[in-house]
Amino acid sequence: MTDLVIAHLYPDLLRTYGDRGNVVALSRRAEWRGFSVRVEEVCLGEPLPPDANIVLLGGGTDNVQSIIGRDVASRAVEVRAAVARGAVVLGICGGYQLLGRSYVLPDGGVVQGLGVLDVETRASRDRLVGRVRGDATLWGRSFELVGFENHGGRTTVGPAAEPLAHVPRRHGNNGRDHGEGASQGGVLGTYLHGPVLAINPELTDAILARALVTLTGGEELEPLDEILERRAHDGMARRARDDRRPARRRRFAVAGIMAVVVVATLGAPEAFERREDGDSGGRLGFGSLVHEVHVERSA
Ligand code: GLN
Repeated sequence: MTDLVIAHLYPDLLRTYGDRGNVVALSRRAEWRGFSVRVEEVCLGEPLPPDANIVLLGGGTDNVQSIIGRDVASRAVEVRAAVARGAVVLGICGGYQLLGRSYVLPDGGVVQGLGVLDVETRASRDRLVGRVRGDATLWGRSFELVGFENHGGRTTVGPAAEPLAHVPRRHGNNGRDHGEGASQGGVLGTYLHGPVLAINPELTDAILARALVTLTGGEELEPLDEILERRAHDGMARRARDDRRPARRRRFAVAGIMAVVVVATLGAPEAFERREDGDSGGRLGFGSLVHEVHVERSA
């Protein structure tokens, strides 16, 4: 009997940004610890293996999502049965959206999801794109989560699920509420690519620990040498921070200019009066300059 069975759903269709690497990360980290692994690719119309411990769905375009929509809806029963058996289900980006109740496409069409995660997604015209760094909490573990996102969908997390990570604004589920991804029992979704599991060994091990719990009795998994994974993770975290710096600098610059304009505008009438009184124009400063320009322009 195999220790870990990974069912990779629609590997030929949901596969943006090397999401297949998530299967490799899970398999290797299990095998390095001595567990035997079997990966089953499950395409349109094929049944889910009944012994799957992990079910994985990668990301895909709106077009692909609408193509597989009907097949997804027909799998709700078998995926729910896998969850009830203790399997972990992970969806990335488009796959995450399909774990939810529904995804409303840009043209208003609706793709019904598996309904195993209390989230709903609606397409928006502008996309959330970029590197992301956040603080994740999952199954009693806390860790830093990093990755790359590119999605038009805006996801709202309902009360039965909870956000996977806290991220800066203009990132994550909807760009507004600081949430990224969601979890509900053994079901888990994230917008992050990378592949996310290759660069977030803590997330990978959290999934493995849960999927293998009947074999390990809940014991922590053996630590691995993960210098390269850490380097990739830290590099992504650094770049995510760097990406946000120009935006922060721009905000400071705009605030500075606004402050100068406000001060100058408030100071202008006084400076103007002083000038009318015959006071020297040489020391009037920026306030009067703004006023003079204004008077000249409107003359
Ligand atoms: N089609 C979805 C969106 O743009 C998912 C994209 C993806 O999986 N990268 O929201």
